[in-house]
Amino acid sequence: MTYQNYTLEQLQQIDAAHHLHPFTDHKDLRDAGSRVITHAKGPFIYDAAGNEILDGMAGLWCVAIGYGRDELADAAYAQMKELPYYNSFFRCSTPTPILLSQKLAEIAPSNMNQVFYGSSGSEANDTALRLVRWYWALEGKPRKNRVISRHMAYHGSTITGASLGGMQGMHDQLGGAVPNIAHVMMPYAYELAQPGESDHDFGLRAARAVEDEILRVGADNVAAFIGEPIQGAGGVKIPPASYWPEIQRICRQYDVLLMLDEVITGYGRTGDWFAAQSMGIEADTITTAKALTSGYQPLSALFVSDRVAATIVEKGGEFYHGYTYSGHPVACAVALKNIEIIEREGMIERVRDETGPYLAKALKERIEGHDLVGEVRSFGFLGAIEIVRDKATRQRFQPGGSAAVLIRDHAIANGMMLRATGDTMILSPPLIWTKETIDMACDRIVKALDLAKEDLRNAG
Ligand code: PMP
Repeated sequence: MTYQNYTLEQLQQIDAAHHLHPFTDHKDLRDAGSRVITHAKGPFIYDAAGNEILDGMAGLWCVAIGYGRDELADAAYAQMKELPYYNSFFRCSTPTPILLSQKLAEIAPSNMNQVFYGSSGSEANDTALRLVRWYWALEGKPRKNRVISRHMAYHGSTITGASLGGMQGMHDQLGGAVPNIAHVMMPYAYELAQPGESDHDFGLRAARAVEDEILRVGADNVAAFIGEPIQGAGGVKIPPASYWPEIQRICRQYDVLLMLDEVITGYGRTGDWFAAQSMGIEADTITTAKALTSGYQPLSALFVSDRVAATIVEKGGEFYHGYTYSGHPVACAVALKNIEIIEREGMIERVRDETGPYLAKALKERIEGHDLVGEVRSFGFLGAIEIVRDKATRQRFQPGGSAAVLIRDHAIANGMMLRATGDTMILSPPLIWTKETIDMACDRIVKALDLAKEDLRNAG
């Protein structure tokens, strides 16, 4: 590549002239100029200005095995030479999606033995909704087609993904969402538990919002409930332990399918291959993407339960749905190698037994006491830091989360990539972080918090 022939300013100018970015206010971007990331190695990314930044977000929750893995590049190269592309329509297949499907069935919960491929989490959720509605139609219940989701859920950015998701800003821009999708309260105790309500009771109450909706519209009209085991983009909201078992009970009682979105939690982040295993949930579909290839290639896999697959196979009939890149040979070759590396290096066990608990302890001991921090929480390698003006009352700084953005900017300037969602700081490191990397991250986060506190004091 020849980007080295361009100065940073030139790259920024060309970017501003021709490149529309995802989830971006382009007026802001033009004023500030984009940060151009040029290369990366292990847990670090490097920008065109020469800064080394510790990547606390694993790219966008995806680079599980870290950057610069030659084995993945070699797997892609070899597959591109052998067979760069062929489709899996019209009774065709290619070897890498075949072998990947076998591997995925091996690591998935035991009732999941079939997968459908796409290129992104959004596409996979589109497939999931189509499939679930088709399932009920094949079962002779075409009216059982409503789906229940949660506020602040994130299920992608296509019209289906945004409709399934519970982000108000996205709904406002849709100009008409996919019909028959309802949103109920999220299991977010920090803001929604009542004074004196235990976490356990709050978890049950949040789950019963799903039951209330089923009863309101009638179980015969409800196809499925969809949820991220831990709401990621909505602020790493970790439900109380009572929540998922109650959701499972409700779904079984009313014969409502359970759709899990593990686009973030899948492939090791929770200390198991899937959060379904960490939390003991038996689902009917599981959406995965991101860490399936550690982001080295775009690929998603939608797991389909034996129950749903049996109906599709036994009743027959064409599923009028699929993507040019479903089962892309190169992406699947990279996924196979990525999973091999996760296994070989024992990454999941390390997150579960060693680094995940260490991260939890470090956040509690080093971050939670800070004046700007109301709560820290984590599960495996997902973490959140709640930013508040007042620890006791949990009062926030401003609507819009400007304090968190300030902290994020200080963090990046001090070599730490973090994300801010509202007034919550989010952490989703690559699974390769060691205890030393966690210490380094905490040093930088504390520094960013201190600098932000000074700014906020000066601003009054
Ligand atoms: N579901 C969840 C839980 C996600 O976090 C995301 C992306 N952050 C998606 C779906 C959408 O995935 P993609 O951006 O690959 O379409």
